[in-house]
Amino acid sequence: MDRITESLHKQINDLGESHASPIWLTSAYNFKNAETAEKRFTGEESGNIYSRFTNPSVNELEQKIAILENAEDAICFASGMATYTAIALTFLKQGDNVLIAGGVFGSTTVLIRKIFSKFGITSTLLPPQNPESWMTNITKNTKLIILETPSNPIMRVYDIDKLKRQIPENILLVVDNTILTPIFQLPLRHGADLVINSLGKYFDGQGRVVAGAVAGSKRLINQLLQIQRSVGFTLSAFDAWLLSVGTDTLEIRMKSHQQNAMFLAEKLIQHNMVEKVFYTGVEKNNNIIIKQQSGFGGLISFKIKTDKIGTIRFINSLKLIKICTNIGGARSLVTHPATTTHCKYNKKERKAFGIDDNLVRLSVGLENAQDIFEDLDFALAQLNNKV
Ligand SMILES: *Cc1c(COP(=O)(O)O)cnc(C)c1O
Repeated sequence: MDRITESLHKQINDLGESHASPIWLTSAYNFKNAETAEKRFTGEESGNIYSRFTNPSVNELEQKIAILENAEDAICFASGMATYTAIALTFLKQGDNVLIAGGVFGSTTVLIRKIFSKFGITSTLLPPQNPESWMTNITKNTKLIILETPSNPIMRVYDIDKLKRQIPENILLVVDNTILTPIFQLPLRHGADLVINSLGKYFDGQGRVVAGAVAGSKRLINQLLQIQRSVGFTLSAFDAWLLSVGTDTLEIRMKSHQQNAMFLAEKLIQHNMVEKVFYTGVEKNNNIIIKQQSGFGGLISFKIKTDKIGTIRFINSLKLIKICTNIGGARSLVTHPATTTHCKYNKKERKAFGIDDNLVRLSVGLENAQDIFEDLDFALAQLNNKV
C-alpha cells in the first residue's frame, strides 16, 4: 500500500462510530484493576499511564509520521527545538562533541553552542562550502552530526548517503527534513539515523501550532521516549489532533507549494533586479538533488541587486506577502534571514554561510502564483523609485 494511503487511514484504535478521530483531552488513564496499573508501570504491559508519556491523539500523529518517513517509529515533542534538546539529553554526555552543518536553523546552533556547552558538550560549526572538511573535524569525542538538506535559507544540499558511508558507525547522523518533508525526501533511506521535522511548518500548513517530531529505529525512539517521560516536552493532544488532520493533506499541499515555487523561481531568475535565486527545483544538473529528493518544496530564497536598506525597503513594499518568520503556511511569507532567523550568527559566519544582507527568504503559499509574482515585482520596482 502507498504510504500516503496508509497514513491517511491510520487512526486511533477506539474510534467508536466516529468518522473523525476525537481529541483525547485527558491527562491520565483509568486502569481496569490495580494489577494492570502495576504491569503498565513495570513495562510488562504496554498502554497509557499518563499523558506526559503517551496519549492516543499524539500517538496517532506519531504513527502517521513514522509511516511517511519510512521509519519503524516516531515520537513527538512540544516544538522542533524540544526534539533537538531531547536528542542531546538522550545521546550526549559531558565531553562529547557535535558537528553542526553551518547555516542550520539559528536556534539549533544557539542550543548546542550556548546552552549545551554549559554541560561540557563541545561543538564544531562546519563550512557548508566544503562538506569534505567534515571528516577532518571528526574526533574520538564526536557523537552527533546535525544537518539540514536543503539548508535554510540558501538551499545547500548535502549527500546523506556519502556522509553516512564516511563517518564512524558510532556517530548519530541527524537530518532535519522540515523544508522538504517526507513527501519529497526520505533521509532514513539514505542513511540518516534520525530525522527531525518541525511540525508547525508544512505538517500543520496553516500556521497554528508549534511542535516537532523525530523518526527512526524503534531502539533509538524508545531511548527518546524514556527521556521524554522524565523531561516532559509533551505535545498537547489538541495540537496533535490539529497536526494529524494537517498531515492528511500534506502531500497535496506540498505539490501546490512546489508548483507555485517553481513558477516564481523561474520568473525571479529572469528579473533584472534579482542577483541570484536559491531553489533546488532550478538546479537541473545536481546529482545529489536527483538522487536524494523526489521534489523541491515550497521555500525559495533570492538575493536582490541592492544593499541592506534596499532589501528592507523591498520587504516593506510587499502588500500581499506577509512579513513573518514562519514557513509552510497557506499564505506567502517573507523573511530577512540576516536580521531575524540567522541574526545569532556573527557577521563573519553569516558571510561564510551565504546569509548576506540582500538575501530574502520566501515561503511560497497557496495563492495564485501570478498574484504572488505581481506583489514581488511591484516591490522590486520600488527599488528604482528613489524616494
Ligand atoms: C522552525 C525550525 C526548527 C525549530 O522548530 P520549532 O518548532 O520552531 O521549535 C528547526 N529546524 C528548522 C529547519 C526549522 O525551520
